[in-house]
Amino acid sequence: MNKIEHIGIAVNNLQQAGDIYEKLLNTPVYKIEEVLSEGVKTAFLGVGNNKIELLEASNPDSPIAKFIAKKGEGIHHIAFEVDDIKAEMQRLKAEGFILLNDEPKPGADNKLVCFVHPKSANGVLIELCQEIK
Ligand code: ZN
Repeated sequence: MNKIEHIGIAVNNLQQAGDIYEKLLNTPVYKIEEVLSEGVKTAFLGVGNNKIELLEASNPDSPIAKFIAKKGEGIHHIAFEVDDIKAEMQRLKAEGFILLNDEPKPGADNKLVCFVHPKSANGVLIELCQEIK
């Protein structure tokens, strides 16, 4: 894996959280994007070589809505950049990690993504992401 690509933060209100993180990082939200298949609206801010991804549920069944109901707002996942997502998925599967999807799927910010179950990673939801070229 190359680096931490972004940290995902579950929020109740994307607008409000965007304002706070713009002040915190002193940089504007550069992209707002809805991922319909995941039931999320996302906002991205850059920080050095990394990003912060704010996530708001776009429907009550969204995984983000369920996460916030259970744990409240806060860090939702850590995303690692990979060059070959299928190869990494195979490697992790062989190492005994539980993957939440069998095939890479389109995520926000022009990425193919796959999630690793928090049960396999000490309570942290892990995202693998590969830039779509
Ligand atoms: Zn993410």
